[in-house]
Amino acid sequence: SKDQWEIAREELTLGQEVGSGQFGLVLEGVWREQKVAVKMVREDCMSDEEFKEEAKVMMKLFHCKLVQLYGVCTQCSPMCLVFEFMENGCLSDYLRERKGRLSQEVMLGMCLDVSEGMAYLESSNFIHRDLAARNCLVSTNNEVKVSDFGMTRFVLDDQYTSSQCSKFPVKWSAPEVIRYSKFSSKSDVWSFGVLMWEVYNEGRIPYENQSNAQVVESLNTGVRLLKPRLVPHSVHMLMEWCWKEKPEDRPSFALLLHELASLSDL
Ligand code: ADP
Repeated sequence: SKDQWEIAREELTLGQEVGSGQFGLVLEGVWREQKVAVKMVREDCMSDEEFKEEAKVMMKLFHCKLVQLYGVCTQCSPMCLVFEFMENGCLSDYLRERKGRLSQEVMLGMCLDVSEGMAYLESSNFIHRDLAARNCLVSTNNEVKVSDFGMTRFVLDDQYTSSQCSKFPVKWSAPEVIRYSKFSSKSDVWSFGVLMWEVYNEGRIPYENQSNAQVVESLNTGVRLLKPRLVPHSVHMLMEWCWKEKPEDRPSFALLLHELASLSDL
């Protein structure tokens, strides 16, 4: 049917709050006997009609390393988005909570999980646009999945959407995104390099004491994030490759996945 993405209000049971984000509150819930995360979309935060169109595209994306969108409840007010529930919350908090206790195997596994989800998005010609540890979630069995793909396009807050503005994720953005908003899978690859840096720094904020303007300035002179103390040489090489100035000099996710998988076999 044309309303396959529509979730009936009566099938959805809402529970307690588990977080809040750009679009509003996130609640725990139950839908068809499974635990779900329900994002309540604050009216003034999202371009509704555009999103409903896009939800149809997003619902065709299926991968075990992506947080699944089950559907949209437009009968709810505010409109809500229903996602697979991820018991262990966002990756950045998860890393910080386990500081000093993460093995090499676990850290590499996290990078591998994200590269798998991203290789699938790349092969589906879908650009994430806001890849970072805060936009990945961790399941009960400690698997990492990519979340919030493509969602920044529906944010109505001006502070978030232009690289000149305070909430724009400059520290995760490729130079061509900062300069001319040129998003691509290769700009996602740059962000993935920063995500690997976050993993091997156990959830530290990149360029901690620098303003966005200072970060842009140092990127322009070719300076990059420093090698994390815990990262093996082979993984650091991959990070640096993700941060090549020219998008075409960066690896694809398919290649990154292949490289990370061969490292985890060792
Ligand atoms: P937004 O994208 O609107 O900014 P987030 O995706 O960051 O919101 O969600 C805010 C918080 O809600 C997350 O940090 C996490 O703790 C919780 N959350 C979001 N999605 C899920 C989910 N699928 N399962 C469990 N918790 C979630």
